[in-house]
Amino acid sequence: MRQNIVAGNWKMNNTLEEGVTLAKEVNEILKANKPNCQVVLGAPFIHLTEVVKTVDAELVGVAAQNCADKASGAYTGEISAPMVKSTGAQYVILGHSERRAYYGETNAILKEKTDLALANGLTPIFCIGEVLEEREAGKHFDVVKEQIEEALFHLSAEEFGKVVLAYEPVWAIGTGKTASPEQAQEIHAFIRQTLANKYGAEVANDTSILYGGSCKPSNAKELFANPDVDGGLIGGASLKAEDFHGIIAAF
Ligand code: PEP
Repeated sequence: MRQNIVAGNWKMNNTLEEGVTLAKEVNEILKANKPNCQVVLGAPFIHLTEVVKTVDAELVGVAAQNCADKASGAYTGEISAPMVKSTGAQYVILGHSERRAYYGETNAILKEKTDLALANGLTPIFCIGEVLEEREAGKHFDVVKEQIEEALFHLSAEEFGKVVLAYEPVWAIGTGKTASPEQAQEIHAFIRQTLANKYGAEVANDTSILYGGSCKPSNAKELFANPDVDGGLIGGASLKAEDFHGIIAAF
């Protein structure tokens, strides 16, 4: 059975102290209000060890926001999947559109990162999604299919079963524009069918496919009510414990 997941992506926000405070606040709220979904905090690398220590593991998972496409070596400034794993984090967000756009991450690079994440026991939260011009040209289905095929379809069914997908239309990220529940369901169903064509219905049905893009407490419920939307990847609204909880409480 697939899991419902609400994952925060703090991006490059918060000092270490602020991040730990936010993690503590989220954890306290969830201790008092048991979530009906898996909750994950996507923290900056330098926060990971402390955030892992701060939260109750049965309530909150912890994600890095990236990892290197190499396991170790002379790659100044990079953080590898084994390093992420050593912090106690269980997840890694890969292929976020900001990393694709600003840091030149291609599907080929993301293929390497995914392999290293899986080889080191991390669950990739793998992001896909189209930019506005692609949506307007009606190419969004082709774009997400290609992203999945090129970065993930070399995986065996068993390996793919460990991947979480996050559909994030780039035009909705941080813009206040949200895909309508109908738009989200339409493309999530397409993604699931794409997985079924490759791996079969069982793997496709067991894959969690999250929606991301200006998700907030006021729209989470209608987005998550769709049969193929299994939760959200949350940027801005994950930076305030109350807002983040408002989204978690949609389940
Ligand atoms: C994101 O960056 O993954 C995201 C969904 O951001 P926001 O919620 O701020 O649109």
